[in-house]
Amino acid sequence: MATGASVPKDATEEPSEESALETARRQLDQAATLLDIDPNVVERLKHPQRVERVSVPLERDDGSVEVFTGYRAQHDSVRGPFKGGLRYHPDVSEDECIGLAMWMTWKCAVMDLPFGGAKGGVVVDPKTLSDEEKERLTRRFTQELRDVIGPMDDIPAPDMGTDAETMGWIMDAYSMQEGETTPGVVTGKPPVIGGSYGRAEAPGRSVAIITREVCEYYDHDLSETTVAVQGFGSVGANAASLLDSWGANIVAVSDVDGGVYDPEGLDTSAIKSHGEQPTAVGSVEDAERISNEELLTLDVDVLIPAAIGNVLTEANAHDVDASIIVEGANGPTTSTADAIFEQRGIPVIPDILANAGGVTVSYFEWLQDINRQGWTLERVNEELESRMLTAWENVQEAHELDADVSWRDATYVVGLQRIVEAHTYRGLWP
Ligand code: NAD
Repeated sequence: MATGASVPKDATEEPSEESALETARRQLDQAATLLDIDPNVVERLKHPQRVERVSVPLERDDGSVEVFTGYRAQHDSVRGPFKGGLRYHPDVSEDECIGLAMWMTWKCAVMDLPFGGAKGGVVVDPKTLSDEEKERLTRRFTQELRDVIGPMDDIPAPDMGTDAETMGWIMDAYSMQEGETTPGVVTGKPPVIGGSYGRAEAPGRSVAIITREVCEYYDHDLSETTVAVQGFGSVGANAASLLDSWGANIVAVSDVDGGVYDPEGLDTSAIKSHGEQPTAVGSVEDAERISNEELLTLDVDVLIPAAIGNVLTEANAHDVDASIIVEGANGPTTSTADAIFEQRGIPVIPDILANAGGVTVSYFEWLQDINRQGWTLERVNEELESRMLTAWENVQEAHELDADVSWRDATYVVGLQRIVEAHTYRGLWP
């Protein structure tokens, strides 16, 4: 998997198949060249603090027992407990977990959250599990991880193949063993058991906030801005409808089966999100049908890829006709495409800033849980807005220091600087 980075600068250098870990390490090296930092700290950051590998036996519904492999990679906790998702997917691997954990470290630092990065999961296709099997697998996986997770140690969250219900099972399994209700062990729970209002919408909301700010930065009046959004799921649908309500003109949206385009603007409030109705985009009337590939090359002011990774590649980067790209999905831009956009002068606002609303509201959820408080939706959204604006200002300052520093590099510089300073103050023990 090759995910977004602005290196190598020479497009011909792109490795054909780059793992998440290789990408994360390369991005670290690239950001380190832009800062005057201790190479010993950079060396430490290339390695996870710990990787827990566990076997998870599951009694299938037919009475047979199957053993699955699970991981929890904990990258760096210099600024606080580890934080990151748990995914259930057949491609989960130790290296992928480490690479994704590193990204969580940078993302938390960019948002100035007192967390380090983690990621984990089970090597399983969740579609092959019944609901009961998924619950049993989750409870046993929680037990296997019990020594390494906890509200002050490592706080998992939903990711691919897991959801609010899964987090509820983890919280219950952990709490039963601890002998007390411990909501702060996971985030992304249903609000009735300690989840936060606004958590599910938060990544899309942060994408919308950053899009609004970047439009202002580049003197695009939002009411005259055209936007194309790939992926009408949790991130894409929330970003599109918020931007629509703030006056932007959403001219195209898509799902896995294709998209719809109306240069006059779509009424996004009339389209249900993927989660509510998976075929909703296809049933929009009075709009031109387009493919996902066509959506990516529309002549628009802002392109928001918010579906899956690696959709902007060497093959289509020269055809992209947007003035600005805001990454809603994780890693939608390959490094070659990133280099092409840089050469073409198309700003790319990176995922670790734009969709960081998710981990930010997870932090709010954790704060509510450990303090036994409940915030209103208004408070959550106000605090998210404030955190996103601060992060955007920090990244803007780093970007303006040097005209050659891309938005992606500037974002990594902001995060890495905080982590390196924390390592420097804490030192190496013993
Ligand atoms: P989702 O499942 O809710 O929605 C995904 C959308 O993308 C759907 O509309 C689906 O039809 C569409 N899609 C799927 N495959 C596609 C393809 N091959 N081509 C075009 N469209 C396709 O997912 P989501 O939660 O909105 O996540 C989207 C992206 O955002 C992912 O990269 C995810 O990692 C990232 N992200 C999600 C969160 C979160 O908390 N939901 C937080 C940060 C980042």
